[in-house]
Amino acid sequence: MIPVIALVGRPNVGKSTLFNRLTRTRDALVADFPGLTRDRQYGEGKVGGFPYIVIDTGGISGDEEGIDAEMARQSLRAIDEADLVLFIVDARAGLTAADEMIAQYLRVNNKPAQLVVNKTDGLDALSFSAEFYALGFAQEPWMIAAAHNRGVTSMITRLLTDLCGEPEEAALEEEPIEQGPLTEEQILAQDEQLETQSEKQLDRQIKIGVIGRPNVGKSTLVNRILGEERVIVYDQPGTTRDAISIPFERNGKPFMLVDTAGIRRRKNVTETAEKFSIVKTLQAIKECHVAIMVIDARTGLVEQDLHLLNFVLESGRAVVLAVNKWDHLDQEVRHSIKEDVNDRLGFIDYAATHYISALHGTGVGELFRSVEKAYRSSYSHWSTNRLTTLLQDVVAEHQPPMINGRRIKLRYAHQGGMNPPIIVVHGNQTQALPESYKRYLMNSFRKILKVTGTPLRFEFKSGD
Ligand code: GDP
Ligand code: GDP
Repeated sequence: MIPVIALVGRPNVGKSTLFNRLTRTRDALVADFPGLTRDRQYGEGKVGGFPYIVIDTGGISGDEEGIDAEMARQSLRAIDEADLVLFIVDARAGLTAADEMIAQYLRVNNKPAQLVVNKTDGLDALSFSAEFYALGFAQEPWMIAAAHNRGVTSMITRLLTDLCGEPEEAALEEEPIEQGPLTEEQILAQDEQLETQSEKQLDRQIKIGVIGRPNVGKSTLVNRILGEERVIVYDQPGTTRDAISIPFERNGKPFMLVDTAGIRRRKNVTETAEKFSIVKTLQAIKECHVAIMVIDARTGLVEQDLHLLNFVLESGRAVVLAVNKWDHLDQEVRHSIKEDVNDRLGFIDYAATHYISALHGTGVGELFRSVEKAYRSSYSHWSTNRLTTLLQDVVAEHQPPMINGRRIKLRYAHQGGMNPPIIVVHGNQTQALPESYKRYLMNSFRKILKVTGTPLRFEFKSGD
């Protein structure tokens, strides 16, 4: 499970600065959930093969009047979901009453917490460290200067090693591939490497995450999938009823449902709806290959659905949309829902949409076909030859514009990664390429390469 780290502390101690540092990786995914969270930010990062999720709790104000009730509640919730709390204090301000309050708060909640002393730049450690020992943390405090990126990487690497052990082979494999100006030989070598990875990946089990707001029918869908006759659910050694991931086989193909804790258990509809957890959703998105995003046809699309979808979009994950509870709706209602979905989900138009009934099992088979297609697309590999020929065809069809009397040149293309597939296009003046032309390229490539269900990313390199 991807570890979750919460940053807590008074306002102004440098939490957002640290948050920004920790999420400034290549695939960083940062999103606010307006309306859902107040002053909470979720982000994601990766260090040395370890992915992690960071929550900036926005701050426990802890002034004389006491902790602001709503803020504290929110922070507490974030702390609840975290594997580790980093309690940030300000070396310049020294120890304050509010810090002591927060430390107390963490002790009472019995959370694994470590003390981080920020803004240590230009200060002599001896001059401030002693007072913070009074907070009673077992470990030595971390000394960092987030604004200057000092001590941050070594701290996070150490914390993650302690939390997760050695990074997994698979995690290392996903490290971004170097994309500087490559020689022809390097590109060919990379092609081969991607080809092998693609082949290997296509034999693996597909990890599916079922996400969506509470009550849209996630557990019904999961139970429906696992309850089908054609499905063999494996008993893994060490798995319990509360297992987080459930491996199964469908039509002879291996799958795994990830992060279904709390979903599968809720078989009884009279149980109260599961609390919506952004952290759990984020973890499911990170852990899966393909996300099934469930939308409730009875309520129609709501803001939260769009926020979740945005998250999926930014994460680069493959996704399939399941508009659920399609049973017993009259034609008019169906028509207006379809219209609404088409109008408002244009931003994620690469995702297949299925209208299903988890309760009756209608449409679930088609859903699986799209899941498999999306997975294959996300791990596709195309040779440099193929991509370059395709680029040349597409460019011949429609030339890029002239800039300062010189035409933008697009010379060759190669693949820079998968899941999501990245296509690196080399040429001249590519930095001046208009958005409309990029969209043209993207749409043409998507269509010709038959990429569905996954984002397709483009990177442009310029020789001048
Ligand atoms: P937050 O309210 O806890 O999220 O704090 P911010 O991240 O907004 O930082 C508050 C102020 O402290 C800003 O002006 C930052 O530039 C400054 N700051 C953050 N980290 C450092 C640091 O390492 N050294 C110094 N000198 N200032 C810092
Ligand atoms: P979750 O909170 O997303 O896991 O949602 P549940 O699976 O617990 O479903 C919430 C409610 O919607 C329950 O009362 C289900 O019986 C009902 N429900 C789920 N799927 C369907 C469906 O396809 N059609 C109808 N009519 N009701 C459904």
